[in-house]
Amino acid sequence: MSVTFTDTALPNIIQLKNISQSYDNGKVQIIKDFELLIEDVPDRGQFVVILGPSGCGKSTVLRYIAGLQKPTTGEVYINGKLRTDDDRIGMVFQQYSSFPWLTVLDNVALGLEYKGVSKKERRERAMEAVKIVGLEGHEHKYAQYPSLSGGQLQRVAIARSLLVNNQIILMDEPFGALDTNTRLRMQDFVIKVWEEVQPTIVFITHDISEAVYLADDIFIMGNAPAQFAEHIDVNLPFHRDRSIKRDKNFVELVHYIEDRMMTLNK
Ligand code: ADP
Ligand code: MG
Repeated sequence: MSVTFTDTALPNIIQLKNISQSYDNGKVQIIKDFELLIEDVPDRGQFVVILGPSGCGKSTVLRYIAGLQKPTTGEVYINGKLRTDDDRIGMVFQQYSSFPWLTVLDNVALGLEYKGVSKKERRERAMEAVKIVGLEGHEHKYAQYPSLSGGQLQRVAIARSLLVNNQIILMDEPFGALDTNTRLRMQDFVIKVWEEVQPTIVFITHDISEAVYLADDIFIMGNAPAQFAEHIDVNLPFHRDRSIKRDKNFVELVHYIEDRMMTLNK
């Protein structure tokens, strides 16, 4: 039986409507008639992964959601309302985006300063986020390599994004600069944070196995102009560990996506 809620329906958490992007006075058009809908899942956020060839517009789409760029035309809705600057949304980039002259704790607390939260409360809340990302004991170190490893620096960025808005976290190839070992550990780490905090995560990667391991939903993007070529509902159990990478369904989905990506890159 399906029940349709009218008045009480949960709003869509992220929606992009009629997006187009051109540069150079309209001479270059990279995005046209682009739509994205990420639905709110009651009781837990979604894990959405975007895959697509370089230059197709993935980071641009994330910047729209974060409010770092406005599309040439079209609108961005957050929780069913037009996006405003009050919707500060956490973003984690590939390159470490912490200030090396500030401590871990100060870097994490930065996201709260604009809100006029008192210094004491900022530190308390930052410390909670530091604990969630497993950096307790490192909070007074400077956020720089090699005092902290690459994986630890990305945890600082994730802790900061949790504090800014723990409902939506955008991650743009966050593990791209990490070695394989650290990357695999960070995948499990981000699953743990997701299950604990239950944000909606929109995550960009080039690694298909990483995408299938992490995602509820995968959007494959094609280019010229940017559009979604396919939306895949990842039908694997909710609580995953690395053993699932040997599961027949996992392996088949990775191969299916690989073939699909090849047809897009012709
Ligand atoms: P992705 O993250 O998928 O690799 P981006 O979103 O970074 O792609 O970029 C999408 C496209 O937009 C790229 O082809 C890039 O060259 C183009 N682009 C970005 N900024 C500008 C600009 N200011 N002028 C012209 N083209 C741009
Ligand atoms: Mg990019």
